[in-house]
Amino acid sequence: MNEIAIIGAGPAGIEAAYVLAQRGYKVTLFEKAADTLTNIRDKAYLFPDFSSAADLADQLNRKLQHENITLKTNADIVSVKGESGAWKLVDSQVNAYTASAVLMATGYTVFDAKRKEELGYGIYQGVITSLEMEKMIREGHIVNTMGEQPGKIVFLQCVGSRDEKSGNHYCSKVCCVTAVKQAIEVKKHLPDTEVYLFYMDLRMWGEHFEEMYRESQEKYGVKYIRGRISEAASTFDGKVQIKAEDTLVGLPLKMSTDLLVLMVGMEPSAGTRKLATDHAMANRYGFATSQSPLLDDNLTAEAGFFVAGTCKRPLSIIDTLNDARAAAQRIDEYMNTLR
Ligand code: SF4
Repeated sequence: MNEIAIIGAGPAGIEAAYVLAQRGYKVTLFEKAADTLTNIRDKAYLFPDFSSAADLADQLNRKLQHENITLKTNADIVSVKGESGAWKLVDSQVNAYTASAVLMATGYTVFDAKRKEELGYGIYQGVITSLEMEKMIREGHIVNTMGEQPGKIVFLQCVGSRDEKSGNHYCSKVCCVTAVKQAIEVKKHLPDTEVYLFYMDLRMWGEHFEEMYRESQEKYGVKYIRGRISEAASTFDGKVQIKAEDTLVGLPLKMSTDLLVLMVGMEPSAGTRKLATDHAMANRYGFATSQSPLLDDNLTAEAGFFVAGTCKRPLSIIDTLNDARAAAQRIDEYMNTLR
C-alpha cells in the first residue's frame, strides 16, 4: 500500500485525506497544533446559512476515524525533501517519515492587527478583532469594556488586506461577508445596539451573500458607510473615538463607539511561508503558488508534491473543501503513474 503524507489538519487536509483513504490509500496527516481545525473552531456560525461551525468541525473530524487515516498532532513538519515517489519528511522533534506523495495544506493565519497601530488594537480595550467578536457571538456574551450591553458597534473592513502600508495588496475574500454575518448576529442578540460597517467596497461574491447584505439593512437595520477609518483613540468614558472620511459624500466624519471591530484579513501561516519558500514557490506575500491556477491548481513544479486550500490564497471553507477534493483526485492520478 502506498503512503501519502498530508501536512495540515485543517479542512483541506482532512477532506483530501478522507477522499484518498476511501480510495484505499494509507494517509498520514500531520498537524503541528494539539488539535485539528482550530480556524473553524474559532467561529460561531458559518456564512451564508448560519450553520454551526462546531457541527462542521465534528463532521470533518469524524472522517478522521477512517481506518486508512493516521493523525499525528503536535507534529510540526519542518522539512520535506525528495523526489517523485520518495519523499522524506522531518518534524521539529527530528522524527523522520517517508511518503510516495505529499500534500501541503498548511493554511493561513490572521493578520496581526497591532501592525496597524493607528487603529489602536492592543492599546485601547474597545478595539477588538473579528476573531474576538466571533468568540463573543459564540459565547452569546457581547459586551463593551465595562461588561455592559454596547450602545454602538462599528465594524471596519479590509484591515491588513488591500492595504499599501501592511504590504498586502490582495483581497482576503471572506471578511466582507464575515462582517455582514457578524453584524446580523449582533443585531439578533442585541436589537437595540446600533451597528455601523465601514467599507471600501463590499465584495458579496458568493451564493446568497447579496441576500444577506440586503437583509442586514432591511431586516436588522445595519448601517453602511463607505470610507476608511484613519485613526482611533480612547475617550475618558472607555469608548473609542474614530476619525474617518465618508467617501460617498466626501466629508470627514467623527464617531464614538463602544467597540471597534477590525475585520482582519488572511495571511500565509508560518508553516505555509516556510514550505513555500523551501520549495521555491512562494509568491510575493508568502503564499504557495501552484503550477497553474487556471489549468491545474494543485500541482507544483515537483512531481509528487501537491498543494491545496488556503496555503495558496484566501478561500472560503466551501472553496477550500472543493479544492481539497480536486487535489485528492490529482494525487490519485499521480499514484497510478507509480504502479
Ligand atoms: S473581502 Fe472585503 S473586507 Fe476582506 S479584504 Fe476583500 S474587500 Fe476587504
